[in-house]
Amino acid sequence: MSQFTFEVGKTLATTTSTSSLGRTGTIRTPHGDIQTPAFIPVGTKATVKSVLTGSMKDLGAQALLANAYHLYLQPGPEIVDEAGGLGKFMNWDGPTFTDSGGFQVLSLGVGFKKVIAMNEDTFRSDEVIADKKERLAHVDDDGVTFKSHLDGSMHRFTPEISMKVQHKLGADIMFAFDECTTLHNTRKYQERSLERTRLWAQRCLTAHHKLTVERSHRPYQALFGVLQGAQYEDLRRKGARDLGSMKVPVDGADVEFDGFGMGGALDKGNLGTIISWLAEELPFNKPRHLLGIGEPDDLFVGVENGADTFDCVAPSRQARTSAVFTEDGRVNISNAPYRRDFNPIDENCDCYTCAHYTRAYVNHLFRSKEILAATLATIHNERFIVRLVDRMRVSIVNGQFFDFKNDFLGRFYAKRDNA
Ligand SMILES: [Zn+2]
Repeated sequence: MSQFTFEVGKTLATTTSTSSLGRTGTIRTPHGDIQTPAFIPVGTKATVKSVLTGSMKDLGAQALLANAYHLYLQPGPEIVDEAGGLGKFMNWDGPTFTDSGGFQVLSLGVGFKKVIAMNEDTFRSDEVIADKKERLAHVDDDGVTFKSHLDGSMHRFTPEISMKVQHKLGADIMFAFDECTTLHNTRKYQERSLERTRLWAQRCLTAHHKLTVERSHRPYQALFGVLQGAQYEDLRRKGARDLGSMKVPVDGADVEFDGFGMGGALDKGNLGTIISWLAEELPFNKPRHLLGIGEPDDLFVGVENGADTFDCVAPSRQARTSAVFTEDGRVNISNAPYRRDFNPIDENCDCYTCAHYTRAYVNHLFRSKEILAATLATIHNERFIVRLVDRMRVSIVNGQFFDFKNDFLGRFYAKRDNA
C-alpha cells in the first residue's frame, strides 16, 4: 500500500571480500525508482539554479531535492500543493525529496558550515555564532522560532508544522524535523539535543501518519528520520538505535520511519567512522541518506560506509563561481590559461556542455558575465558528480570499488585544488 520500498542489491562485503558496509540498492517511489548509491542534485527553491529540469533528466539525475524552509517562505506550501505538488510545480516527473528545514532554520542561528575540519583549539560553546552574524533562530523543546532571511518576519517550525509543510510540498521522500547542532556545542548540550530530536521524531511520525490518512488521495510520501549526535560514538549509536527501532502507535497502526537521514555537522576527518557507526545500528533493509555531502572524497567515504543517497548544493554553487570539476581536480575555468583552450572542460565527460562547447567558450562567458556561463558550468558539474556516484555503483557490482576509489582520488587530488 505504501508504494515506497527499498531493496538491497549487491554488498561491498560480498563483492570485495571486505568488512565494508557499502551496498547497491533500488528505492521505489510513486514517481519512479532510484538506483543507489545515487547523488541527488539540489534545487533549493524548486529549481536547480540556471538549469531546466529537462536538462537535469538528460544529465542523469534520478531525483531532485528541494528545501522546505525556502519553499515555506516563498511561494508558500499552499501554492505548491495547489499546483499538484513539488514535481508538477517544477515540471519534474521523477522522484523528489524535501529536507525538513531544520538545518536551514538552525544554521540561521549560528551560520555554521556542514563539514568542519576540527582542530585542537576549536572554540566550544553553546552560544557560538559565526563572526558578525545576527542570531536569527531560537530553539526550545517544542520547536524553533526564527526570523525570515527574506523580510525579517518571525516564524515558527515545530515537528507538526514541518510535517504539514512537507506534506503540502508533496515530495516522495521527506525528512523529520530535527535539531541540527554544531560540532562546537558542549557534550552536555549534544545529549539534551539528541533527546529533543528523539521526541521530535516521535511527533513527526504521529503527525505524518495523520496527514497520510487525511491526504490518501495523494501519492504516498515516505518519511526519513534524521540522526544526530555530532562526533560522539555513544550518542551517534544511540540516536541510530532509537530512531531505527522507533514504532509509534497512532490510531491502531505502528508507525515507523521509511528510511534515515544522516545529519548534523560532521568532522571531515571522522566522516567514514561516523557513517559506519550509524550504518551498523540502522536496519539493513532501509535506505540511508547522507545530508548535504557532495565532495568527491566524501562521496567515496559515504558509499564505502553504507550511505545510499547524497545531496549537496556544492556542484551548482561552485559552478556559478566558475569552479568546474575535471578528473585532474577542480579548476577555475575563468582563469587566463583557458582563454585559448579549445578542449572540452573534461575530455572524458559525456555531458551536453562537454559535447558542444570548449573551455575557451565557457571562459569567455564567465569573463563577459553572460548568464549562459552558469547554465553550462552547472550542467557539467552536476553530470560529473551524478556520474561519479553512478560509477561507484557499477564498481560495487563489479567488485572494483576500491580500485576505482584509489584511481579516481589519486588523480583528482594529485594537483593542489586551484579552484
Ligand atoms: Zn561535462
